[in-house]
Amino acid sequence: MRRTCTALVRDLEIDIPVNPDDLVERLCARMGERLGQPVHYLLVRFPPESATGLWIDTGTAHYLLCERDTSGWHRVAITAHEFWHVEAGHGSLGVGVGDRDLPQLLLPSLDPSTVARIVAQRTYCSNQAEQEAEFFSSLLMAKVSRWLPRQSWSVPDHAAALVDRLETTLGHRPARRQDG
Ligand SMILES: [Zn+2]
Repeated sequence: MRRTCTALVRDLEIDIPVNPDDLVERLCARMGERLGQPVHYLLVRFPPESATGLWIDTGTAHYLLCERDTSGWHRVAITAHEFWHVEAGHGSLGVGVGDRDLPQLLLPSLDPSTVARIVAQRTYCSNQAEQEAEFFSSLLMAKVSRWLPRQSWSVPDHAAALVDRLETTLGHRPARRQDG
């Protein structure tokens, strides 16, 4: 897990501080080189109470869908979590009945028959694959968080627990602004 993490960030040519989405794009490109298949990063708006991240494997390409309405810092953490599912080749996990429709809902242009497997991220999922993915996410965040801009940001309620946990793990506590 540490080796994968190091391989993903090694010799990345980026300006610091890096825009979080640019960083994710670079990491996806790196991931794509490792897999020999394109890895696409897409920002979408997930339905409430569904998920914040989703990996769709079509057999020839990978789509990492990430919640748009959260902080840049959280978007990197969400995508890092999905990276581990891809790297470990996890099967269809954390996918509830309603989630079967998520790819179609979030990516209407995607042909459902090409979806080989989907993995949804659940904040409160206790199975081992989810725990591994969370751990990998915190490993990667420990490496890249210092490259990200320090900023004020707000986090939706459903994501706050995860972000708090990650911040505590990393000893990183940016000032948080509450909107509304
Ligand atoms: Zn997951």
